[in-house]
Amino acid sequence: RKLIFSGMQPTGNVHLGNYLGAIRNWVKLQKDYDCIFCVVDLHALTMWQEPAMMAAQTREVAAALIASGIDTDHCLLFNQSMNPDHAQLAWIFNCVARVGWMNRMTQFKEKAGKDRERASLGLYAYPALMAADILAYKATHVPVGEDQKQHLELTRDIAIKFNHDFETELFPICEPLILGPAARVMSLRDGTRKMSKSDPSEQARITLTDGPDEIAQKIRRAKTDPEPLPETAEGLDGRPEAANLLGIYAALTDKDLAAAVTEFAGQPFSAFKAALTEVAVAEVGRIGTEMKRLMADPGAVDAILHRGAEKARAMSAPVMAEVYAAMGLLRP
Ligand code: ATP
Ligand code: MG
Repeated sequence: RKLIFSGMQPTGNVHLGNYLGAIRNWVKLQKDYDCIFCVVDLHALTMWQEPAMMAAQTREVAAALIASGIDTDHCLLFNQSMNPDHAQLAWIFNCVARVGWMNRMTQFKEKAGKDRERASLGLYAYPALMAADILAYKATHVPVGEDQKQHLELTRDIAIKFNHDFETELFPICEPLILGPAARVMSLRDGTRKMSKSDPSEQARITLTDGPDEIAQKIRRAKTDPEPLPETAEGLDGRPEAANLLGIYAALTDKDLAAAVTEFAGQPFSAFKAALTEVAVAEVGRIGTEMKRLMADPGAVDAILHRGAEKARAMSAPVMAEVYAAMGLLRP
C-alpha cells in the first residue's frame, strides 16, 4: 500500500510556487494514493512567528489546500502540533541522526544566514522533525520540491540507521515523488532564488489571495533582462528570469516549456507579461476566491483540522508503540 505524507508550513503568504510545485500535484495524487496533508506548525516555529498570526496562517494554508481541491473526506488534513507523536518521534530521531549529517543541510545554511550562532536549535534539527512527520505514519512516498530533496535523503538515512541500530524493519525507506515541470518556481525579483513565503519582499511572490490588480502589478514589475524572448529553449540558458516566467506560464497553461518558448519567440517581455497576467489571474483568482470564503468561517476549517488530527493520532499510535518496544522504553 502506498501512503503519501506532505507538509506545508503556516508561514503565511501561500504562493504560486507552493501551488504549482506542491499543492496542484497533491490534488492529483489523492486519486491514486492514501494521502496525509499536514500544516506543519512546529516547523514554522524554527523561525520567529508572531503568536497572534499563527492560528490565522494555519487556517490560511488549510483553506489553500481545500480551495485547490484537496478532498478532506478521503485524505487527512490537520495541523502538526495536534498530534504530539510528531514531536515525540522527532526527539528519538535527534538521538539517531548525527551532527555531521545535519551540518551538510543546505537549507539550514540558507535560512540561518551569516550569523549561524544565533539560529534556533530547532532550525538545525528541522530535518529530524520532518523525518518524524513521515515515519510516524510509515509513509512510503513524499512529494517534494527540489528544495526538500536533501531532507528526504536524510529521512531515508534516519530510517536505515534506526532499523539497523534497533535490529528491526520497522520503518520503510521512503521514496521522493518529484512531479511536474514547475518543481521550482523562482522569485520574481531574482531568478536565482526560489519564490518563498518567508522572503521579506512582497514583490517576490504572487500569493493565492492576491487580486487581479496585485497580480498584474507584480508581473509588470517582475525582473527581466533587456533582450527579447528567445527563439528556442536553449536560448534561456543564462537568463534565469526569462526561464522562470516562461516556466510559470507553461505550468499554468499545462504546456511544456518548449511550446511556451515557441509561442512567444522573439517577442518583447511586455507582450508576454500581458499573456502571463491573464492566465495567472484566471487560475489564482479561482482559488483565492474560494480560500477567502473558507477563511471567513474559521470554525468550519478548525472542525476539519480537528477531525483530521483524531484520525492521524489513531494512525501514528500503533507505530509509536512499535518504536517504544524496539527501543526498550517502559510504557504503561
Ligand atoms: P518558507 O519560506 O516558510 O520555507 P516555502 O515557500 O519554502 O516557505 P514550505 O512550506 O517550506 O514553503 O513548502 C511547502 C511546499 O511547497 C513544499 O513541498 C515545497 O517543496 C514547495 N515549494 C516551496 N517553495 C517552492 C517553489 N518556489 N517552487 C516550487 N515548490 C515550492
Ligand atoms: Mg521552505
